[in-house]
Amino acid sequence: MKVIAVANQKGGCGKTTTTVNLAAAFARMNKRVLAIDFDPQGHAALGLGYNLSDAGHGIYDALTNMQIPISRVIRRTYIPGVYLAPSNILLSGVETELAMRPSREYVLRQLLADLGDSYDLCLIDCSPSLGLLTLNALVASDEVLIPVQTHYYAIEGLKQLLETVDIVKGRFNPALQISGMLLTFVENRTLLSRDVQRQLREYFGEMVFDTMIHRNVRLAEAPSAGESVITYDEKSRGAREYMQLAEEVFNGQAKSWTA
Ligand code: ADP
Ligand code: MG
Repeated sequence: MKVIAVANQKGGCGKTTTTVNLAAAFARMNKRVLAIDFDPQGHAALGLGYNLSDAGHGIYDALTNMQIPISRVIRRTYIPGVYLAPSNILLSGVETELAMRPSREYVLRQLLADLGDSYDLCLIDCSPSLGLLTLNALVASDEVLIPVQTHYYAIEGLKQLLETVDIVKGRFNPALQISGMLLTFVENRTLLSRDVQRQLREYFGEMVFDTMIHRNVRLAEAPSAGESVITYDEKSRGAREYMQLAEEVFNGQAKSWTA
């Protein structure tokens, strides 16, 4: 099972949208995909049609209670091939609970090891922070995929994230790679968006995916229907771009990175 963390400590850059739609796109390619909602807000779970008031176990329970294996937390979604480990608000307190544990950085990694090859791919929707939860996600992953909203401060925020990736590589998970940076909310008509695109490609070169996600209203509408854009409107630009991204992620060798 290949594990990809979708991470950026900046909120609203498209992490959840990318997790949900990439999961749906990979399922279209006949992959078995596990989506882990690792944000207490639970938006990835909502976007996959999960009802947050459902009383079942969530990823929080597997992280904190050794009696509950992760397999008991995972459920089917309405998309064939996409499975979900939901989050809930309790996850917001998990960092303090985990902080007391030995090997606190490896808790998620150990849970995923129990799954063996039940899934082809696991996508982790990270919360907008670089705290212990995100650290657990990076330690558990083969790759990190970084959505980047095209605006002027994007590069500054990325430096901090890349430093964190380097620390994780150095201390906990030497095999961690960057699968790529994904430009989101792209607007070709505005000079600003084109300028930032150019800057990011100059600065990070090969690290930036060829595929870009344009601003597309269907992407914003689909979650309110509890759907991925690929099931909601497969002909929309958003759906086509996320399917193209799945191809690129699947074909691309993970690019190694030393900052
Ligand atoms: P994050 O998980 O990084 O906080 P989200 O994926 O939740 O970001 O995106 C923030 C908001 O923007 C959501 O309401 C989402 O539906 C919307 N959104 C995400 N990507 C796009 C896009 N390419 N075009 C239009 N709206 C988008
Ligand atoms: Mg999110």
